[in-house]
Amino acid sequence: MYNENNIFAKIIKGQIPCEKVYEDKNVLFFNDINPMAKIHVLGIPKIFCVDFSDFILKSEDSIVSDFFKKTEMVIDTLGIRETGYKIFSNSGVNGGQEVPHFHIHILGGEKVKL
Ligand code: 5GP
Repeated sequence: MYNENNIFAKIIKGQIPCEKVYEDKNVLFFNDINPMAKIHVLGIPKIFCVDFSDFILKSEDSIVSDFFKKTEMVIDTLGIRETGYKIFSNSGVNGGQEVPHFHIHILGGEKVKL
């Protein structure tokens, strides 16, 4: 069950500020407040979904495709396509997810120690 009071829902609604990297009508990419590498960007779809599975199961194919195409575009914009990066998404208790709105982590800018 999606809880609209989570921090990323508030960021989407503009109720909490963030350092935006890229935004359009479907997606938002912004800097993580507690970076684990020189570059640590979070990417979220604006559709309200709890985790990866919820996003895939409730979204049109075009929305899913758009999200991952935009993720690659942001990777290029960050200048880390050639040097490499790590992308991942935590889900649920066993995945160690803290914020219950689907998000992808993009880490790079240095050798990522994870
Ligand atoms: P999770 O553990 O859910 O995969 O990751 C949540 C991430 O959100 C963490 O890396 C954490 O630093 C980041 N985060 C939590 N609250 C905020 C916030 O208010 N603003 C930003 N920009 N990042 C946040």
